[in-house]
Amino acid sequence: MAKIVAIANQKGGVGKTTTCVNLCAALTLRGKKILLADCDPQGNATSGMGIDKNSSPGMYELLISGADIFSCICSTPYGDVIPAGRNLAAASLELDEVETRENTLRSALIKLYSDYDYILIDCPPSLEMLTVNALVAADSVLIPMQCEYYALEGIVDLITSIKLCKKRLNRRLEIEGIVLTMYDSRMNLTAQVANELKRFLPQKVYNTVIPRSVRLSEAPSHGKPGVIYDSSNRGSKGYLALAEEFLNKQV
Ligand code: ATP
Ligand code: MG
Repeated sequence: MAKIVAIANQKGGVGKTTTCVNLCAALTLRGKKILLADCDPQGNATSGMGIDKNSSPGMYELLISGADIFSCICSTPYGDVIPAGRNLAAASLELDEVETRENTLRSALIKLYSDYDYILIDCPPSLEMLTVNALVAADSVLIPMQCEYYALEGIVDLITSIKLCKKRLNRRLEIEGIVLTMYDSRMNLTAQVANELKRFLPQKVYNTVIPRSVRLSEAPSHGKPGVIYDSSNRGSKGYLALAEEFLNKQV
């Protein structure tokens, strides 16, 4: 049975997509069968996996036109992908008109339960209907976080939303873990935020941190996950270690 993990943080640019793409590839390297479901109209995870954002059918057709989910899957050497592109932006509004709107993604992904070890969902930077669909489909939420001054406030908001979702829509939902991204150990603020976070949420913060690495930010322009494009930089090593820690935490 696949475990479904939503990678979410309503704050933009914190490393959700980079985490999703690299965890997907790192887990695939470990022999796991992984599906990356792109729920962000920006389609960055899709192109980061080397797939055309305009591929059709994709997430839009799956959610709105009821396309057969197997026809929406693109295969790559680093994991399978349900692609997303600009047209997905309309899905949020269109879903508002559907009665079972929060459950649309979950109902679709159920058909894939026996085909994958993990399904990773890349969420947009908001708490709109696409993110709600991801949180209802998911068993857990993995939260990438940048060690900035306002990051903790954002995490408090996010955890409030997760708790609300758990209470009203999805009792299974747990926090998978929080990963500190673009980590710069030379900055005092980084250590302060990290320590405060660990006090606030003991057990949930990964020991592995992801350092800043130019190579990770270059990788998407080559259509490859960072860990594949260049496995030797500190950022890629971070994601390979995160995959290991992620797997060790599974029961
Ligand atoms: P959005 O909220 O827009 O979806 P996001 O949370 O998915 O953004 P990313 O797209 O993963 O964030 O990262 C934002 C930017 O930071 C990108 O340009 C990415 O290449 C870069 N980046 C992410 N992680 C790292 C890192 N460890 N080192 C250097 N650059 C990074
Ligand atoms: Mg993103």
